[in-house]
Amino acid sequence: MRPLIPACLCAISLCAYTRQATKDGVPLRRADAASIQFLVNGPEEFTPALAAAAKTYGSVATAQVRFATLEATGAANDPMDRRNVFVFLDTPEIRSVVGASVAVTLSVFDDQGRILDTDILFNPAVKFSTTLEAGTYDLQSVATHELGHALGAGHSGILAAAMYQSAARESAIESRLSADDLAFLAEVYPAESTAEAYGVLRGTISLPGGEPVRGGHVVAIDAAAGILVGGLTDLTTGRYALRVPRGAYQVYVQPLDGPVLPRNVQLPESQVTAPFQTTFFGGLAAPQTVEVSTEPAVADLVAASERPGFRIQFLGAYGVFGTGAREIKSGQTVELFLSGPELDGGHAVTLLGPGLSIQPDSLRLDPDLAVNGMPVLRMKVDAAARTSGAMASILVAKDGMAVVQSGALWMEPSSP
Ligand SMILES: [Zn+2]
Repeated sequence: MRPLIPACLCAISLCAYTRQATKDGVPLRRADAASIQFLVNGPEEFTPALAAAAKTYGSVATAQVRFATLEATGAANDPMDRRNVFVFLDTPEIRSVVGASVAVTLSVFDDQGRILDTDILFNPAVKFSTTLEAGTYDLQSVATHELGHALGAGHSGILAAAMYQSAARESAIESRLSADDLAFLAEVYPAESTAEAYGVLRGTISLPGGEPVRGGHVVAIDAAAGILVGGLTDLTTGRYALRVPRGAYQVYVQPLDGPVLPRNVQLPESQVTAPFQTTFFGGLAAPQTVEVSTEPAVADLVAASERPGFRIQFLGAYGVFGTGAREIKSGQTVELFLSGPELDGGHAVTLLGPGLSIQPDSLRLDPDLAVNGMPVLRMKVDAAARTSGAMASILVAKDGMAVVQSGALWMEPSSP
């Protein structure tokens, strides 16, 4: 048995999203998933937000995960006491363990990957709130992310997933479970209904010479539904397998060249294939759709090793720039900004998501704007009203080459 710090864990992930694993590669899971008892050592007013995060998992129909009612405790972060605790204490040890993280989840597990004890430590130097107040982190979002680790999830390459590597201040994006997070739950804690709702998409990614693409990020996207599920190719064979809701998907592979880097998804940089070209199944000009139903569907890809010089590094909406997903209010028009090296007026931008359209002739390079010295493309985007949340990817292409930010937009419903 050994304690683990998810952010530092080295694990090989063979499946969609990413899973944490023992050093021998056994994926982690909870034996007590049917009724996980968490305790709270912290301010009483934090309990409702923590309970809401637990309920988010407990109300997923396609997963058998339930949390018991939270209880107050005086217990702290003892990895051997078999008590799962949300810890809001300020001690030198906790400050040292959390470092610059907003929160850290420490789990103890056995050789079979069974998680036996989990403590979630919140950084005492960070301000949490439940009101998205300026300068604070949304407590429910952070708790939702950390509970994902408590269930054995690693970080996702999908920017709008609850398991994306970093939280942003004043953002509640990680308080929602994306299709990618739900796919993790369906894989590890399937309910009876899961088998009928999900299917498997698999394949092998290779370079033109036949060499496998190791640690490539494969994404299945149903742009009409706003569903994305991502996973990594195997570090030896280049194979991947994603559990996805049954449906029709476009499939692409992209390099982990930012904002998600190999270390963010627990992969050793030295074993990952150097950046290659983002490649769509069927080709960029006419991507092919793959139907996932009862039988596993197969999508093999050959990715060119030559990659474009342009990239997207920062996204902006409502005047705020950042490296994670941006939230868009559906039913409104929003100015979207993309910044990165070598972007110019010659790039085509496509939004792969439901009800999104770039206003004709609104896409332009803004000569008066720069982010960290890099050029900025701006455009006006109409987002159709919707009643449920959805994700979209941003595709930027030029001269037959493309880069994608996967799940870069989260569309918030305009009415419940
Ligand atoms: Zn994390």
